[in-house]
Amino acid sequence: MTQAPATAAHTMTIDGAAAETHAVLDVVDPATGAVFAQAPDCTRDQLDAAFAAAERAYRTWRVDEDARRTALRACAAALVARAAEIGAVLTAEQGKPLADAIREVHTGAAWLTYYAGLEVPREVIQDDERGLVEVVRRPLGPVAAITPWNYPLTLAFWKIAPALRAGNTVVIKPSPYTPLSTLLVAEILRDVLPAGVVNAVSGGDELGRWMTSHPAARKISFTGSVATGKHVAAAAAPDLKRVTLELGGNDAAIVLDDADPTAIASRVFWSAFQNNGQVCAAVKRVYVPEALHDDLVEALAEQAKAVRVGPGTQEGVQLGPVNNRPQYERVGELVADALAGGATAVAGGAPLDLGGDGYFFAPTILTGVADGTRIVDEEQFGPALPVIPYRDLDATVEHVNAGRFGLGGSVWSGDPDRGAEVASRLDVGTAWVNTHLALGPGQPFGGAKWSGIGVENGPWGLYGFTEPRVLHRAR
Ligand code: NAD
Repeated sequence: MTQAPATAAHTMTIDGAAAETHAVLDVVDPATGAVFAQAPDCTRDQLDAAFAAAERAYRTWRVDEDARRTALRACAAALVARAAEIGAVLTAEQGKPLADAIREVHTGAAWLTYYAGLEVPREVIQDDERGLVEVVRRPLGPVAAITPWNYPLTLAFWKIAPALRAGNTVVIKPSPYTPLSTLLVAEILRDVLPAGVVNAVSGGDELGRWMTSHPAARKISFTGSVATGKHVAAAAAPDLKRVTLELGGNDAAIVLDDADPTAIASRVFWSAFQNNGQVCAAVKRVYVPEALHDDLVEALAEQAKAVRVGPGTQEGVQLGPVNNRPQYERVGELVADALAGGATAVAGGAPLDLGGDGYFFAPTILTGVADGTRIVDEEQFGPALPVIPYRDLDATVEHVNAGRFGLGGSVWSGDPDRGAEVASRLDVGTAWVNTHLALGPGQPFGGAKWSGIGVENGPWGLYGFTEPRVLHRAR
């Protein structure tokens, strides 16, 4: 933390206005490794002010559903109108190619539009001579929303859109690696939303801890690592705050013996390397029958070698740098560990020297990696993919299910019904067949086991920001 000068590229939004910047955090451009901007470091008093504003705004925001729908549509329009500007900020702090960053802004708008239009019916569960019994969904109050650095805006709107639609108000904290795009979005929404409905604060992990223990927060919606998720759950417990946890994954792609390796290679590759592998539900390991192993590895290696890696601002770049130094070092460490254990890198295998200090890593395909190697058993969250041959499908499914993670998984087969049968045996939140990472606003997304609690998206995601209330009228 730097004490002076306390000027930041974007300001925090508290009670519909710019909050004063007292101290700042440095923000690094991962394409250069250099500090390019500062973000405010929220004080405890400012966090109190943000929650107080959220509590005040909640009293009126919760009342008028039609006004909320209209406001969400206006938010979507405001984001779309400034998508290029927001995208440029996102690329600068996150590293992803500009086209992907702009797409992320549009994803946020799509989620707002989806939730604006979603019908939440009052459910009548009894209507007879004894009485009329209805279940209605009531909002919870101020929500503490905490997001990671891989998809700062997509994940922010997975929370903001359903939370607001349901009648809650929000205090959001982005990752200290990627605070600016969220702050900019909140600046833009000041002109659209009533004061206090969305408050955006930035700071380090300590700020996250203050949020999860803040008495005004009635719900914590957290996306991040398993380790932090457990701290969040523990912090929520003394006050019985409601929690949704979207945590890490170690998704397996299981290729069946009737799949065509060359036909599926591109889709498997991009399911693993999208956003440089920094996706919770990316393919993080591939299991392939021995007979298909060499063909699939060759086809994946071809894909990996053809990818254009470079600064996200450069035209035609497909993958940018890894987002931050610790993550860049971790990916390097996991790949080095596999190579030291006898693995072969058929593509990549090391950082990519583009002549500067950016966190570039060559897209890496590893073979000769056994279960029990760190890169197979742990979440690498980066551009390196182990391919593991198998003989016994049932044993492979059992092995995958024996792990602690359970976010997603996919099965690849020439026979979609057979694929679906195997996929339905995976202990995961989403089991895909001949695809992976296919998501949409109406499709619930969440993890089994250590990959999370609760889901986001669709009506189920909205219900997570509500509690059922029974209205029972006697006759
Ligand atoms: P992280 O857990 O380190 O940090 C996430 C956020 O939590 C940050 O804003 C951070 O400042 C904050 N934080 C840190 N400690 C905290 C604490 N004790 N209390 C409250 N907040 C705290 O995760 P990360 O490294 O930013 O993100 C990568 C992880 O996120 C990966 O494991 C990835 O799989 C996971 N992820 C999951 C999903 C999903 O939907 N399941 C989506 C994206 C990323």
